[in-house]
Amino acid sequence: MARTRLPKGGAATLQELCRHGELTRRELQGLLEVSGPTVTRVVAHLDELGLLEAEVVGDGALGRPAATIRLSESGLAAIVVSLTAPGTVVALASMSGTVTESLSVDVTAEVPYEAAVERISEAVTTLLGRARGRFRALAGVGISFGGAASFGEGRLTMPSGFPQWHGRALAADIQQLVGLPTFIDNQPVGYIRALRWFDPQGLEDRYLCFADYGIAGCSSAGMPRPDRGVSTGGFGHLGGRVSGTEQCWCGLYDCLNTRASLRALRAWGARRDLVTPDAHIPEIVSALEADPEGREALEAAAGELVTATLDACRVLGLPGYLLGGALFDTSAVAREAATKAVEVNRRIATGSFLPTGWSNRGPFLSASAIVADGMALSGRIETLNPRV
Ligand SMILES: [Zn+2]
Repeated sequence: MARTRLPKGGAATLQELCRHGELTRRELQGLLEVSGPTVTRVVAHLDELGLLEAEVVGDGALGRPAATIRLSESGLAAIVVSLTAPGTVVALASMSGTVTESLSVDVTAEVPYEAAVERISEAVTTLLGRARGRFRALAGVGISFGGAASFGEGRLTMPSGFPQWHGRALAADIQQLVGLPTFIDNQPVGYIRALRWFDPQGLEDRYLCFADYGIAGCSSAGMPRPDRGVSTGGFGHLGGRVSGTEQCWCGLYDCLNTRASLRALRAWGARRDLVTPDAHIPEIVSALEADPEGREALEAAAGELVTATLDACRVLGLPGYLLGGALFDTSAVAREAATKAVEVNRRIATGSFLPTGWSNRGPFLSASAIVADGMALSGRIETLNPRV
């Protein structure tokens, strides 16, 4: 395995091809705002690395055939890790985010840190072996973490569902064992990164409200480049007070996290014997949706999240937003309530739910975008097998 430098403009070209699927040289030139010869040079270099496919279709300028360029499905790949408190999956994915193979790994919040690093590294090494026969190059390893993490430092911060691991340099520790560049970020921030890599509309500045076991909010504004980083900004803790009924891990009472998260809804349901205290997301949602008061609780949570999201848009001056996470993915009641709440406030900002189809691929798209940003930042890829 050898480290190869991408040509100048190479990462941006790969990004446009990820977002749009296929493009002509002329389209690439317009999107990248560079000269024709520059596009030709970058495309030739990426093609030499085995990352592209070209197909001659239709008529180009002056009656010449125009080539459509797209990413080769056997070109660039990434090893992606979805690491959340309920479970961990390590997968091999093509640059366009398609998973070709995945392994469940026995890593939960109860597993000691050293054992977790070893198990994840073992799965990464197995998939690295599979990647050799299948892909020309690897962008590296991307970890989408269900908690706070610093992309710049490759380190876990707090809070997360892994309190015993806080502060550990997980990306660096895995990188040392597997010998591949490894990057980590918080999962919702990874979604924001993924909008830029995989969604054709992804360059619009938007606010993402991510409602899962916890609540996160992050903005795509001011993060056009991977080295800028982005903060989740404490969105989950809006409305916190020094005293109240429900204390959050942040130390405040009655913040959004303690009212509208799935963890809060589960605790609410458990007090009424609707769910068990350790129920998982589908059980929580179906139990609450089957109960009249439970439906009201879901509707109230969705309404609060929409209000907080629109407030964030107003404060940050963002024209659009997205609602995502398990709450909106699995609860029709929450989606309906959110849609209604939005109708009343249409003038502040316009928005929608995270792109359809992202609910299953989501954690992998998040991890793929994390490693893609890492690759763009370093300007390097790992060549596996130049003659596949
Ligand atoms: Zn809080």
